[in-house]
Amino acid sequence: MERIVQLETEIAELRKNLHEKENELYELKKNCVVQPAPQETFHFESNLQYGQSNGGCNAEIGDKLPRWAIERYSRQILLPSLGVAGQARLCAARVLVVGAGGLGCPAASYLAGAGVGHIGLVDYDTVDVTNIHRQLLHGEADQGAGKVHSAARAIHRINSHVTVTPHDVQLSSGNALEVISRYDLVLDCSDNVPTRYLLNDACVLLKVPLISGSALKMEGQLTIYNYRAEKNDNEKDASYCGPCYRCLFPSPPPPEMVGSCSANGVCGPVPGAIGTLQALEAIKLVVGFPHGQLLVGRMLIFDGEDATFRIVKLRPRDPNCAACSENPKITQLLDYETFCRSKAKEKDLDLKILEPQNRITATRLASKLKENLETSEQRHLLVDVRSEPEFHMCRIEGAVNYPIDSLDKKQEFDKLLEAIRSCTSQVTFICRRGNDSQLVAQRVLHAIDKEQCGRITDLTGGLHAWAKLVDQEFPIY
Ligand SMILES: [Zn+2]
Repeated sequence: MERIVQLETEIAELRKNLHEKENELYELKKNCVVQPAPQETFHFESNLQYGQSNGGCNAEIGDKLPRWAIERYSRQILLPSLGVAGQARLCAARVLVVGAGGLGCPAASYLAGAGVGHIGLVDYDTVDVTNIHRQLLHGEADQGAGKVHSAARAIHRINSHVTVTPHDVQLSSGNALEVISRYDLVLDCSDNVPTRYLLNDACVLLKVPLISGSALKMEGQLTIYNYRAEKNDNEKDASYCGPCYRCLFPSPPPPEMVGSCSANGVCGPVPGAIGTLQALEAIKLVVGFPHGQLLVGRMLIFDGEDATFRIVKLRPRDPNCAACSENPKITQLLDYETFCRSKAKEKDLDLKILEPQNRITATRLASKLKENLETSEQRHLLVDVRSEPEFHMCRIEGAVNYPIDSLDKKQEFDKLLEAIRSCTSQVTFICRRGNDSQLVAQRVLHAIDKEQCGRITDLTGGLHAWAKLVDQEFPIY
């Protein structure tokens, strides 16, 4: 046993040391990559037009590929649809990946592998242990580091010829145009509705195509918005424009209809598959595939549960679209959190629905429960409203489970009311962060007699507060 502990400590120290050295190396190499050595410098036309010079592999531009590039990218240069000219375009491309998470990690990896010359990464978040099962550019040693920096280091390890620009910011209407205007193409690898509308409107204003991916639970989706044939010489009809996000979804869904990986879960390979396909569409788009071969006007839907891919035809561009029509209503960026009535940062959601007398802190609840044990008083009724899998994962001892979703059924809600009425002690509602518990407590307060209301409370800050203030062994997820 002693030897195991000793080895684990030694390994942890070595990891820390390795991490520090990698950081140092990354910082040193960063400058070399931004300014390549003279013999490695090669320039391609910036302000790239997709599909210039017809995708043929004997175009003049291709002859300028340096030897290392030919060797390194030979396996894809061999593809007739890509060729030397396609590789030259990839090397000159500037692609922005918004979100360095489950979709962004695989997407950025393949873009880097393929030699996309300049990759921008946007994320404001830091790496936490719940990310690592799917966000494979981040490792255990990166916990607490900014995701864009951790991902930039990993990309640099894959391909040191690629310039990576980390944008450690939360994209907003104040900075989106400035950031996006430096790129030819944007990959939406974000996880929330306000950012989707923000990216769409910014990309429409800047005439930049947007490759949009999403993944939740066992399902994923992928399509390209705001595609313009005028930028692609391989297109027969240069006037063709694909739909934008607003052409299909003019108004945002109600916030309660939107799920999230942190609340609903996600199986790692699902965003892995979608992010990888986003990179594939990006490569095809940069190389100059015409829209008929791209996911333009079509949406790919992946169902991991029964292992099926489906393609759904989308409505064409809406001539009256508020964003991309000839006479758009949206001529500048908006406040997207207000427009969508939801936050771009899920962690910030902090509802204050209940009156102070109907709330209880974790420390107060803990001492109440202790009093219960010491006296013969009827035990506090703890109603945990999280989903069943969450309840099985961890719970406060003695709690009973009434998942919030099941309470939509009248029968289930009546059962809960019955349990509350037949209990003579305090009732406390519990959830993960203290939002859902308030929603259920509020419904109960409206349904029971007024004189009963005094004994209804919710645990302020939920199980996160419990883990912080009462039981440090309680898992935070
Ligand atoms: Zn539109």
